[in-house]
Amino acid sequence: MASVALLWFGEHMSAVPLRNNKAAFSAVRSVTVLGATGSIGDSTMDLLRAAPGLYRVEALTGNSNVRGLASLAREFDARFVAIADPSRLVELKEALAGTRTECGAGESAIIEAAARPADWVMAAVSGAAGLKPALAAVDRGATVALANKECLVCAGDFFMQRAQKAGACILPADSEHNALFQALGSGNREELVRVIITASGGPFRTWDPADIEQATLAQALKHPNWSMGQKITIDSASMMNKGLEVIEAAYLFSLTPDQIDVLVHPQSIVHGMVEFSDQSVVAQLGAPDMRIPIAHCLGWPDRISKGPAARLDLAKIGQLTFEEPDFERFPALRLAYESLRTGRGATTVFNAANEVAVAAFIAGQIKFGAIARLVEATLEAWIRSGNLAPLESADDAIAVDHKARNKAASLLPQIALKAS
Ligand code: NAD
Ligand code: MG
Repeated sequence: MASVALLWFGEHMSAVPLRNNKAAFSAVRSVTVLGATGSIGDSTMDLLRAAPGLYRVEALTGNSNVRGLASLAREFDARFVAIADPSRLVELKEALAGTRTECGAGESAIIEAAARPADWVMAAVSGAAGLKPALAAVDRGATVALANKECLVCAGDFFMQRAQKAGACILPADSEHNALFQALGSGNREELVRVIITASGGPFRTWDPADIEQATLAQALKHPNWSMGQKITIDSASMMNKGLEVIEAAYLFSLTPDQIDVLVHPQSIVHGMVEFSDQSVVAQLGAPDMRIPIAHCLGWPDRISKGPAARLDLAKIGQLTFEEPDFERFPALRLAYESLRTGRGATTVFNAANEVAVAAFIAGQIKFGAIARLVEATLEAWIRSGNLAPLESADDAIAVDHKARNKAASLLPQIALKAS
């Protein structure tokens, strides 16, 4: 399997590879998709569908959508499928009747799916629930296309260290990080000045703070450019998504917070840029379609011949515009940088509190503006209680995640009551 990127990363070794580190894939690449029934899963299956004969599906997983999972298993003749909800196993077995697909249920079955021998794994479970399955793939030295940013934010440096130790190869599937991955190859580590990730600005980019505070779920779910799962769409509206991505970039590419900038770019065409010491800025562009970065991961270290996404037509788009992010109206970004600088589990707390806050917002328990307030209050309480400590294992990360969720849940009632 691919060796780590010693050349580019030098002493800052990383499990993100260089293009010239050719991986030893079989002629027909075996593929596992964790979170196959979600939005990223859908895009991934679409790419597989468009290239019959090139890929063989080893395993697919979903949370509770038995019908969707079974239908994919039938279409792709998957060897194994796993559903996270244990109460759906009988239903899943029935839906797979007459096929040769084996199945399982519960967290252990999701982990089993990840641990089965597939050349390439898409890690697209949403939230920190994706950590253990992603680690199961990493531990067997797989090539892992990482869409799930929360697991990286939750586990921090530890995730990449473990990938490096196992000889796993992490391919960034998040569009901004995939753009950086493609642009970074233009120079070497010593020549890097900074990276810039772009943000669409979400549906509330031009809104007044008072309106953002009162935004409804339907308004938060109306993303101007991207079609995505519910959680990440809400995160995009609060700019928590960009905060998570700043942290994701730091861990993926061993960057300091000062080396990562965010630029609001409402058209979502330029996804990421890298500035080098000679003032050259190398960018990656593409239509806002996740099938493009996923295709890059799927084809890596080569490129697939033709993906199903639309080609970029810049003349038609006409204008690309950029603006500074507003840290006042979108405090999520400030909190992300602060937790990254704080380290010692703070990014785990940041992620856990956000997951609790988003669930509470969806349930109608808190206003949109309270999402960032709950994250901030949880971080403050965590630090005040002297809980910061380096994460040395997955268990450490999971324990902090659980404790931080409880802390956030305990702060929920007072945050819900407090006016902005
Ligand atoms: P989604 O909600 O559409 O899909 C999530 C998938 O995970 C589904 O298959 C669901 O069944 C499964 N799942 C949810 N909870 C689970 C659990 N507890 N155990 C096992 N499986 C579970 O989400 P999505 O938009 O596809 O995003 C997936 C991940 O990719 C997220 O981490 C997100 O931040 C990241 N990502 C998404 C996009 C995008 O365009 N959608 C872009 C970049 C990164
Ligand atoms: Mg992204």
